[in-house]
Amino acid sequence: MELNDLDLSGKKVLIRVDLNVPLNEKFEITDDTRIRACMPTIKMILEKGGCPILMSHLGRPKNGPEAAFSLEHLSEHIEDLSGALVTFVDDCIGPRAKGVAAALQPGMLLLLENLRFHPEETEGDIEFARKLSELGDVYVNDAFGTAHRAHASTSVIAQFFPDNKYFGLLLAEEVANLERVLSTPESPLCAVIGGAKVSSKISVLESLLSKIDHLMIGGGMAYTFIKARGGQIGNSLVEDEYLDTAISILEQAEIAGVEVHLPTDTIVADDFSNDANTDLCEIDEIPDGWMGLDIGPESITRFVEVLRNCKTILWNGPMGVFEMSHFEKGTKEIAMAICEATANGAYSLVGGGDSVAAVNKYDLGDKMSYVSTGGGAMLEYLEGKDLPGVIAIRS
Ligand code: AMP
Repeated sequence: MELNDLDLSGKKVLIRVDLNVPLNEKFEITDDTRIRACMPTIKMILEKGGCPILMSHLGRPKNGPEAAFSLEHLSEHIEDLSGALVTFVDDCIGPRAKGVAAALQPGMLLLLENLRFHPEETEGDIEFARKLSELGDVYVNDAFGTAHRAHASTSVIAQFFPDNKYFGLLLAEEVANLERVLSTPESPLCAVIGGAKVSSKISVLESLLSKIDHLMIGGGMAYTFIKARGGQIGNSLVEDEYLDTAISILEQAEIAGVEVHLPTDTIVADDFSNDANTDLCEIDEIPDGWMGLDIGPESITRFVEVLRNCKTILWNGPMGVFEMSHFEKGTKEIAMAICEATANGAYSLVGGGDSVAAVNKYDLGDKMSYVSTGGGAMLEYLEGKDLPGVIAIRS
């Protein structure tokens, strides 16, 4: 049974959401994407006559309650977006939270204070989880961004709701989209992997090799591959301790019949700065004192050609330092090529903080098939790991 099938009238629905939004120095929300992402679940519960009780973390408080990390800053905006009457309680457990939760009426929503004001949250403390569980009749996990954490509110709590635990709409959608890539992809399937470091993407690269037809490598991590193959990469980002790993990935790809596409040319700069002098050169002939900060035009053309013929595209990590205008072209053109392939019938899934930032920068979110809200959680899912937040609901 799914959340959608339940009669929730009068039920107190305890939902783990991800309200970890950025705030400015006046504690105003600067990007409300995460709040909006959990609204469909909240609204559905309200429409079914249930009372949502929201629990989340915000930032990384170190020493108990800190005003800067209070979820109270979000209260008004949640009221505006949900249309419910929002009550905020300055703790997530204890008699006050229990009292307000018990008195909730349909149309009302309870926002609990930051879970991480209690260290027991990240420790996965069972007693803390039990206290949280006392607030609700039903438990819902809709926080994909923290689904890879075995925290009290994301997984431990589920055992107190053996017959009343559900995925929220967002989490269910995230899992369905990842499964579409991992289990039922239409081929050819291309993984476009970029970003700064090979080290953070090794496991995902290795586990994807048995599933994909094309592997496109860009961003800072490409230079470790180029150096491993004997190229000169000047002062480009490199992880020397991963040169053997890079070779091993290339060998595994060959055995698996995966076509690997590495950049052949690169935009180089004499400093890590948008004001640096720039030039274009072969990616394996970068002079000393210069560093590659974006893929070059020839690489873009080759990559775009491959993407055009793919039916499923998974993208994680930018092709260059897209935050700087002189090094954004590769990321922007690849993003646009993925959109074009999507418009022509391909299925595209984008995830990971920086690729999503790039998609938002170029306003391309609605031209991708699905933009994931989870960075670490998405990578771990793609690595084939069981996410504690997902397992806790399924088991
Ligand atoms: P990640 O979080 O590992 O996906 O890395 C994303 C970061 O990689 C972004 O902030 C990019 O600016 C950075 N990046 C991409 N290409 C390069 C490059 N060639 N050199 C240095 N950093 C890069």
